[in-house]
Amino acid sequence: KSKHPDISFPEDLTIWEWLFEESSPSCPLNNYPEEQLAGFVDATTKERVSWKHVKEAATYISTALAREYGLEKGDTMSLFSRNTIWYPVTLFAAMRVGGVVSGASPAYNVDEMTYALRTAKAKFIATHPTSIGIAAQAARNVGIPKKHIFLLEGQLGGYTTIQALIKRGQRYGDSDQVPYAKLPQGKKNKDVCALLSFSSGTTGLPKAVMIAHQNVIAQSMQMKPLTPPDVKKVLGVLPMFHITGIVHAMHLPLVVNAEVIMLPEFSMEAMLTTIVEYQIREILLVPPILIRLVRDPVVDEYDLRCVKRFSSGAAPVSEEILRLLKEKFPKSEFRQGYGMTESCSCITSHPPWAYDYRHAHNVGTLIASTEVKLIKEDGTEAGVGEPGEILARGPQVVMGYLENETATRETFDSDGFLHTGDQGVIDSEGFITITDRIKELIKVKGIGVAPAELEDLLLGYPAIEDCAVLAVSDERAGERPKAFVVLKRGYQADEATGLNIIAYVEKNKVRYKWIREIEFIEEIPKSPSGKILRRLLRDRAKKGTRGV
Ligand code: AMP
Repeated sequence: KSKHPDISFPEDLTIWEWLFEESSPSCPLNNYPEEQLAGFVDATTKERVSWKHVKEAATYISTALAREYGLEKGDTMSLFSRNTIWYPVTLFAAMRVGGVVSGASPAYNVDEMTYALRTAKAKFIATHPTSIGIAAQAARNVGIPKKHIFLLEGQLGGYTTIQALIKRGQRYGDSDQVPYAKLPQGKKNKDVCALLSFSSGTTGLPKAVMIAHQNVIAQSMQMKPLTPPDVKKVLGVLPMFHITGIVHAMHLPLVVNAEVIMLPEFSMEAMLTTIVEYQIREILLVPPILIRLVRDPVVDEYDLRCVKRFSSGAAPVSEEILRLLKEKFPKSEFRQGYGMTESCSCITSHPPWAYDYRHAHNVGTLIASTEVKLIKEDGTEAGVGEPGEILARGPQVVMGYLENETATRETFDSDGFLHTGDQGVIDSEGFITITDRIKELIKVKGIGVAPAELEDLLLGYPAIEDCAVLAVSDERAGERPKAFVVLKRGYQADEATGLNIIAYVEKNKVRYKWIREIEFIEEIPKSPSGKILRRLLRDRAKKGTRGV
């Protein structure tokens, strides 16, 4: 059980009430004078919205959405866009009137976006001119009318912009805005879904994870005491559709009144320029960007002395990278968070006294109000220093998967423990080290890729009889998918076939899911019940058998 004192949080407020209304002690508008209020700022255009403006704009947008577009409580809006300051504004607007928000990767192609819209049952889309083609086609596929597609930025004929929604809402006058939604009678905030994020969990295809209002509120309150007081500016470089962005670059900054500097698109130059320009002290990154920080020569062109601390999460970081990071930035501190979408971000994090590199290889200790059990393969509880699967319980553990009872029951047990599919050990001081991943997930640049999704695709390829996809380590991306393929009779297991299969995946899937290596084998090892024996294939991949 966590050694931090338990947190308290309201159980009868929605996220909107908790962040923006007079009744809430966490609302920054109640805690800071107007001129001190932080906000979201675009690192490129310098456009800025303070928390006060976020509240006003979100109120107007929500009124327009409810009055003129019929958005009702429980309706889902998909946010399909690169990072922009209007992303959180629109997210809060939809939530204000009881909408549910579902983030989708802006890199998705039409099929992936269609799947995301269908699975989340989206009725509205807010997107960006750079994603409009795909948004429009996917919307047609699931029957979302063009009128329900909004543009977060820019102008395009036939589409309503968020700025136009603000103006429409304003026309109603301040006393005639639609009132903010309250929790339904008899429900607590743990019972009501606020967000739908995609994760494949421990097995199978990506599923819509139901994140309750309570999960986000509790996670923010758990992380607040672990946020050092020097965090006055947050670098908004991680994608907003992922739970790390949602919590750490959207909700937590409001609670601690930290300015979020949003980077619309990632490039090393843009990121480094922004860090120097805004003198950002702590930067929250994922391991693949840490790798570039220590390897890319462009870094030497920037004076990064302002950076006091690196904060990493979402995927494992290697000892080698930690060593190089410490060597390159000898005065820096390091902290790490571990968790998953299903735990609304963190389960563990380093406490402030452990920001030194001696602790960097582990993922810290349990955050407040959180407990874990480590279960060995034989089903018994592991002792100190013994590896076991991490099972976690706390107010940040989410509601389950939308309309997927089976997966929900498999992942969230009747005692309220989330089965993470990660293996770890705990030491006598309570520090947890992740030692292995038991589940099927592949983490490419910190983003989850479900092997089942690629296996489904490959099985549709005419030459393929059977296949299995798993993670192999990659210097730049951390991990990448490798396919083991059994060919149908009559097909040649040669380079040309391999390259054709690779091209087929590239045509059908977003770049981070691309398979770079294929190995042809005689048979996919399976258990008597037909489950792929991934461990055998993993061992084979580790032994360095070569593919195309
Ligand atoms: P996601 O739901 O995309 O956030 O993926 C969650 C998974 O990412 C976890 O179950 C872990 O396998 C992995 N992960 C997240 N944070 C860390 C970390 N600090 N170290 C190692 N693996 C991590």
